[in-house]
Formats: sequence, structure tokens, C-alpha cells
Amino acid sequence: MFSRHVTKDISAYCQGELSTEASRHFAEHIIACAKCRREFEEIKLGIRFAEQLPQVAAPEMLWSKIEASLSSERKGAAVVNRWWQARVAAVAAVLLVVGGLGVWWFWTRGFKNDLQRASWQVQRLDGAPRIGEKRIGARGELAVGEWLETDGNSRAQIAVSSIGRVNIDENTRVRLVETEPTEHRLELARGKLSATIWAPPRLFFVDTPSAVAADLGCAYTLEVDDRGAGVLRVTSGWVALELKDRESMVPAEAACETRPGVGPGTPYFVDAPASFRSALEVVDFQNDAAAKASALDVMLNQARTRDTLTLWHLLARVEGNDRARIYDKIASFVPPPDGVTREGILNLDQTMLDRWKDSLEASWFVNNTIVPKPLAEGYWRVKNGVVRRLKQ
Ligand SMILES: [Zn+2]
Repeated sequence: MFSRHVTKDISAYCQGELSTEASRHFAEHIIACAKCRREFEEIKLGIRFAEQLPQVAAPEMLWSKIEASLSSERKGAAVVNRWWQARVAAVAAVLLVVGGLGVWWFWTRGFKNDLQRASWQVQRLDGAPRIGEKRIGARGELAVGEWLETDGNSRAQIAVSSIGRVNIDENTRVRLVETEPTEHRLELARGKLSATIWAPPRLFFVDTPSAVAADLGCAYTLEVDDRGAGVLRVTSGWVALELKDRESMVPAEAACETRPGVGPGTPYFVDAPASFRSALEVVDFQNDAAAKASALDVMLNQARTRDTLTLWHLLARVEGNDRARIYDKIASFVPPPDGVTREGILNLDQTMLDRWKDSLEASWFVNNTIVPKPLAEGYWRVKNGVVRRLKQ
């Protein structure tokens, strides 16, 4: 899989210029490939920014001043001095234009938000959900920037543009942050939501106080308590839980905790032994080095082949001898493929880590799980680490 990176297709994919088959291949590749996923995010950000920038010509006056200054240079005396003046004038002109663009950009964005704010349809499921201060009837509209809130007796369902739906449980507070063709984003301040998304990967995001959940074609629940700690449980496909450089890839049948000030913990399969899971919590979120070391002992003792999902993620999160012990444990289940060395893994060589993950994935989906995509145009099958969409 990693021999065919898709970075050259990123721009075409973002502009919708790829064929259906090529788009599908692209989407499937970035689910599995961290390298392409990172580049995709960067290019998408650039495209989004460029779309927001209006095209404004520099005022005529500035150019004539720059030209006058440049031509006077040729007239002999103090050429160097004048050259510098021209440089300064040119830089000042560019700064002026850029500054003007910035002001214009923010002004138009604010203006646009006020005048034609995009919104999502909300349906009442139970009780009396509120949008802002207002209770909604059977239906309501959640505009960008607005909060949807449920109390102990109310629930609601949001239609996420045309790409999915999100159920909002009791005692939950969510805000629509953004809805654009290239990105849809909710903020979950507290409570619980269940999302079912049938769009290509990385279109739908949920911000929480301690991590961002990025959809990779999936169904999941996300829960945030009053302290801002959260737990993600994935029922189909994959979700990436991210904060800054820390990324946890969470597949179907797995879960991942998050904590304020730390970010996402390490993913684990929900059927992992209880002792393994409580030891992981110590390794992820406690500061006591001795407690962590003995918790890691428990984990290495209890791990099943499938728990290499957790161990693989831990490789980059521990150091020194702990990393070597984790390496040996994973290798005892699934030896690294050709070209992946102990030294490379201990040095956190990303290509080697990705390749080993590729071969480990076959053991993560023990029954070659067929993952149904509710309401999607097809089904996703996870087989030998490759996520494929099957025809209806
Ligand atoms: Zn790639």
C-alpha cells in the first residue's frame, strides 16, 4: 500500500477533479497512510485559505511610485541608495496590500457570517432542546456559531449537511463551528453525541476540550464530562483523535480516552482484559514513573495479539528500555516485515512504523470484520489491513 502514495493527487481530489474510482482509491489510501494524510491536511488548508482571499489589485498609485523610484535609479548618482529606497518602497507597498487584504478578508467573513450564515437542520427527538435561548419545535435550524443544548429529558438529531447525521443525547451542549464544502465542524463542550458519517475521510470534525475527532468514514460515539475529559468509541470505520502532534487512530471495536492538558490517550479494543485497560490508563495519564513502569509490566503480560493496536501506538509514547520491551512483545506476535528493523523502530522511523502497522492490522480485525456503513452507498470491509468499499 505504501508504494503508491497519493500526494500528487491531493489538489485534484480537493477540487473534485478525480474520477469516482480514483477518489475512492485516494480516500482509502489516506485512511491508512499518515504521511499522505498530513500532506492532504496542509494542502486542504492552503486551498481553503486561497478560496477565502479576494483578488484585489494593488492601487495604481503604488506601482507608479515604485516604477518612478526604479527608473530614477538609472540616472546615476547615489544608485545604491536609491535602489534601497525602491526596495523599501516595494516592501512597504506589499505590506500595505497584504494588510489591506487581511482587513478586507476579516471584514467580509464577519459580514458573510451575519448575512448568510450556513445552517444545519435539527430535528427534535425528545423533550425540549434549545438553540441559543429558544426552544425548538419539531424542527429547527442550527446556524454557524449557535449552540444546541439538551436537558435531562431532551434529545435531538442534526443533519450534517448531506454527509451524515449526529444524534445529541441528554444533557449535551454542541456548537456548529463551521460548515463548508471542504470541512464541517462541531464543538462538543459536554455530554454525548453519536455520529454516522458517510462522506470521504476528513470532512467532518468534532472539537472537544481535550482533542479533535476527525472522521475517516465511520460511526462513533463521543462523550465529554464536566472536567473536559472524554471517551471515543468507534463502531464502524476509523476515527483519528488528535491534539497537536499526538494522533491516535481508533478503528471499529476500539475506544480511546482523552484528558485536558494531555490530549488523546492510546486506543484499545473494548474487549481487551480489564487489567490491561486499567494499566493503560496509568501509563497514559499518571505522572508517577514507578507506577507507570509496573503498569507497563501488567500490559505486556496481559496483551493479546490484537492488543498490538495499543502497543504499536505506545512505541512513540515511551522511551528507552520501555520502548525496546514493547518492540519485543509486538515482534513476538507479528515479526516486522522485510525492511523494518529493530533499530529503525526504536528510532521511530515513520516509514517503518507505518509498514509494521500495515502488517499488524490483519490481526486487529480478527474476523476480517465487515463493517456496515449505515445509510452509505455501500459497505466497508476491513481485510488484511485494507479498508475497501464493497459494491451494494
Ligand atoms: Zn501515502
